[in-house]
Amino acid sequence: MSHDELRGRVALVTGAGSGIGRASALGFARRGASVVAADIDADGATETAGLIEAGGGHAEARRVDVADEEQVRDLVRGTAARHGRLDYAHNNAGVSGAASPVAAMRKQDWDRTIAVNLTSVFLCLRFELELMAEQGHGAVVNTASVAGITGNASLGDYAASKAGVVALTKVAAIEHAPYGIRVNAVAPGFTATGMTSASMVDNPEWAEAALAAEPVGRAASPEEIAEAAVWLCSDAASYVVGHVLVVDGGLTVGRRPPD
Ligand code: NAD
Repeated sequence: MSHDELRGRVALVTGAGSGIGRASALGFARRGASVVAADIDADGATETAGLIEAGGGHAEARRVDVADEEQVRDLVRGTAARHGRLDYAHNNAGVSGAASPVAAMRKQDWDRTIAVNLTSVFLCLRFELELMAEQGHGAVVNTASVAGITGNASLGDYAASKAGVVALTKVAAIEHAPYGIRVNAVAPGFTATGMTSASMVDNPEWAEAALAAEPVGRAASPEEIAEAAVWLCSDAASYVVGHVLVVDGGLTVGRRPPD
């Protein structure tokens, strides 16, 4: 992709205040798009927008709770109203979940994880697709996870939310492909962000085992995931529809062979 391939286009990224979302916002901006960086963490979103502006790009920060229907509606419609269009959306905000076996999980934790990771993607799609259908074009990428494909002990709420994102991506994709709108997902493996650094500190044995299973022997950088997400939105992926692009260093293909 060239440096100005997305010039004149507008990209909305949720969870843009850190990690994969920040890298995605910077990735869209590097290719010339104007970026709306949205996050519940207003300071994080402002910092991301500042990094983009400092690099000569155009960005604005917005605070949003993606689990709140009114806030998501205002974010999406407000973006289109201020910029006159919405070309790309990366629905990426998420939380790591309760980290509890299913047999001990509290319903309130389950509800919160499903709300922030899955209902949020429904709400974003609901308003983004309505708008893109009026425009007659657009591309959306949702952040799923390999946990939504393979399952993962102690991640019942998280894995179920991400499996839901995979299913919702496919349904939205086939519903909207006839109207020139593409919907895809990226499914990251173990990625070095705030989300995983907390677990690495709390549970170093788990982190060591997770990395030992990785065929490439390391975690992904946020940029390695974001590049896949930006590519899925770009014209280079014009025939890619309803795809879940696994970016996991080979983790779901097979375990790393013994040294
Ligand atoms: P992160 O914690 O750095 O980023 C998540 C962002 O989402 C944060 O900025 C946070 O403030 C924001 N957020 C949380 N709740 C929100 C809400 N209600 N409304 C708006 N924003 C909210 O972690 P990350 O790893 O960059 O996570 C990004 C996405 O990638 C998540 O959906 C996560 O589930 C997914 N993912 C991460 C990994 C990994 O190993 N890090 C693996 C697979 C999938």
